[in-house]
Amino acid sequence: MTEARKTKAAIRPANGRLAMTTPADLARIEAWEYAPAPEARDYLAIQPRYELFIGGRWRKPKSGRHFTTINPATEETIAEIAEADAADVDRAVGAARAAYDKYWRRCPPAHRAKYLFRIARAIAERSRELAVLESVDGGKPIKEARDFDVPLAAQHFFYYAGWADKLEWAFPNTRPRPLGVAAQIIPWNFPLLMAAWKIAPALACGNTVVLKPAETTPLTALRLAEIIEQADLPPGVVNIITGSGATGAALAGHRGVDKVAFTGSTEVGKEIARACAGTSKRLTLELGGKAANIVFDDAPLEQAVEGIVNGIFFNQGHVCCAGSRLLVQESVHDVVAELLHRRMQTLRVGDPLDKNTDVGAINSAAQLRKIEELAQSGDADGCTRFQTECDLPARGFWYRPTFFTGVSMSHRIAQEEIFGPVLSVLTFRTPDEAVEKANNTPYGLSAGVWTDKGSKNFKIASQLRAGVVWSNTFNKFDPSSPFGGYRESGFGREGGIHGLLPYIEARP
Ligand code: ADP
Repeated sequence: MTEARKTKAAIRPANGRLAMTTPADLARIEAWEYAPAPEARDYLAIQPRYELFIGGRWRKPKSGRHFTTINPATEETIAEIAEADAADVDRAVGAARAAYDKYWRRCPPAHRAKYLFRIARAIAERSRELAVLESVDGGKPIKEARDFDVPLAAQHFFYYAGWADKLEWAFPNTRPRPLGVAAQIIPWNFPLLMAAWKIAPALACGNTVVLKPAETTPLTALRLAEIIEQADLPPGVVNIITGSGATGAALAGHRGVDKVAFTGSTEVGKEIARACAGTSKRLTLELGGKAANIVFDDAPLEQAVEGIVNGIFFNQGHVCCAGSRLLVQESVHDVVAELLHRRMQTLRVGDPLDKNTDVGAINSAAQLRKIEELAQSGDADGCTRFQTECDLPARGFWYRPTFFTGVSMSHRIAQEEIFGPVLSVLTFRTPDEAVEKANNTPYGLSAGVWTDKGSKNFKIASQLRAGVVWSNTFNKFDPSSPFGGYRESGFGREGGIHGLLPYIEARP
């Protein structure tokens, strides 16, 4: 047995009773330190400047303006990115419309599938390059980009390629027809994966696309544009334009768009809903969340703690379905808090390109400020803060994994989406109280239930107003499972057969 393993065994809880971790315990937990294992990035060809991908060609923005994208782990500039304005949006929508009328709506469905399969294969073949690029541009740990974002992006293209020529079977007796041009706006937390979630079903159903990635993480979407170019997709079927919120607003508001799909903040989602109101545009929104992870006293607690850690600390809590509220049954609160505290000390925070890193950099300085401000409100409300004691790199944007106990439903950290590695711990006594607290938020994107009893699990899950409920696990995704929200978390589903519906007209 290695020294590190012996150490772990020595700090396991005995008889469910635990004393608070002492400094000596924490010192022993540090025995898990690994030697650095950085992923190479020297083969990653990044151009100094990227233009707009419109009509199958790379075009300079009409304004001639560019902005920079930086590596949030080092604050180094990576590349200059074109800033599309309303005139560029107009060109992109025009290119998408021309491609729709000229090729794509007439393209036999099996041919559409062929293109999607090509894109899927190219993503799989270039997975290492895409994972490194995602990590460098967004700050997420390489193991997350490598094992989650990129494979799942390829799987989405594979999955929807399979549906392209089977829409009549998916929706029998409805003569499914494409809508036309889809405007798609995505956030910075899963840049390539969100692009795949948006583009794959739209193309499978016969629509053309104008996609705008987030301003802080445009590089993998632009690399996807290169892949699409190499896959020989007819020009204009997919257009990728970069820019800020103003570019997104011009795109969502463009009269030539038939469908708007947005993933991002609830605030911007509401603006887009207002812009689309009174038009014939179809709209789907995937917005914020404040998921409850409910842990009953009969749950396998160590397993639940792994799920809690996975739900909020991996990927820096930059997940709209992050389990940012832990609802724990009062009788096991102290044990769970203690187990969580110990597990958190073993999280490795730092260089996102290191294969052992669990928690990477916060995506931007602005996001870090939001996290700090909301966490400070937890202190001001009298909650008790637990934070890992790890060293942080001198440059870049970092936040130590944190949890607060003594949180009540009225506190801001229990109500507002924090989008960072900060967990609010609340307690409940009865299953009804757990459900009431879990549902007491304007959001309804996801939730988790941890209990040993199958019937209890099903009963609680059926009472939760959340688009996805994970049972004895958290943050599991599959292209065949629909994902989406209730209430202020948005409407419409992505993934699965449900993910086709927002992109077709299906009437008898
Ligand atoms: P976050 O707060 O997570 O950064 P946002 O909702 O601000 O999320 O951004 C998500 C995406 O929406 C980004 O691509 C951003 O550029 C875009 N965006 C921001 N403001 C607007 C807007 N008013 N209209 C359309 N898109 C917008």
